[in-house]
Amino acid sequence: MHDAPIISPTLMPHQITRVRRETRRRQVRVSSVEQLTPMMRRIHFASADLHDFESLGVDDHVKLIIPGTGEGKPAMRDYTPRAFDSAAGTLVIDFALHGAGHEVGPATAWAMGAVVGDSIEIGGPRGSAIVADDFDWYLLIGDETALPSIGRRLATLRPRVPVTSIVSVDSAADRQAIPTDTDWTPIWIARDGRPATDPAPLLAALGPLPPGDGYIWIAAEAGVAKALKAHVLDALGHKPEWLKAAGYWQQGESDSHVNLDK
Ligand SMILES: Cc1cc2nc3c(=O)[nH]c(=O)nc-3n(C[C@H](O)[C@H](O)[C@H](O)COP(=O)(O)OP(=O)(O)OC[C@H]3O[C@@H](n4cnc5c(N)ncnc54)[C@H](O)[C@@H]3O)c2cc1C
Repeated sequence: MHDAPIISPTLMPHQITRVRRETRRRQVRVSSVEQLTPMMRRIHFASADLHDFESLGVDDHVKLIIPGTGEGKPAMRDYTPRAFDSAAGTLVIDFALHGAGHEVGPATAWAMGAVVGDSIEIGGPRGSAIVADDFDWYLLIGDETALPSIGRRLATLRPRVPVTSIVSVDSAADRQAIPTDTDWTPIWIARDGRPATDPAPLLAALGPLPPGDGYIWIAAEAGVAKALKAHVLDALGHKPEWLKAAGYWQQGESDSHVNLDK
């Protein structure tokens, strides 16, 4: 009698592993501030509280609890841990400085005014989705709020895997040089005054998909992310299980994370 082959779950291709953990709040202190590009401010945090900080998914987020805001309950906003080193007790977050003038929200206002020594509370990450590094190619699409996660994915994917990013930024000066060992093809769209809520330039940059199994990740304004998701599924025929799309903000709404998987 022949035994049926045993397929170990770890050998199944294209796994997406979800991890949940207890939310913990930590107090962190600004250790340095860098103006990465005109519209992107990188803030380095340090704290002994970060000794057990963990972020397993490149699109994890922490909640920033913005001091001095809200009535009774402070405002909270979602940000991607761009980099962290728990042994050293450090964390890096990149803030897109959107909405000059009246539309500046509390998180952006805080980042614009942050100086060394300021402190802020963070919560999470509460959950992570770890996408297997065994796809034939990766396509990462979004606006500047997607760049921290895109940067993490580029830093961690295996050498020479083809990765294309299509990212819309405020102007050409907001393009980033991101260290990576992947075979990275960056496509930048400079909005130059056009709104980040128009999906047309991103859609126009999307050609036919390469052959093979690919993973597509989308994060942008909710309406833009929705339009992109519909296009890659309906017009380009991509498999829904190999796609993650999220609205990272929503035009005219505060603190809006729109999960487009539901
Ligand atoms: C999972 C996740 C991870 C994220 N990671 C990052 C990150 O690492 N870095 C980052 O910069 N952002 C990130 N974002 C987006 C960020 O949470 C939002 O942009 C957030 O709304 C900013 O808060 P705020 O207090 O500045 O503005 P809010 O008070 O939330 O909004 C004020 C006004 O500004 C508008 N607005 C909000 N964000 C933008 C924007 N980007 N461009 C133009 N108008 C905007 C709103 O529509 C509203 O009218 C992430 C979002 C999610 C859901």
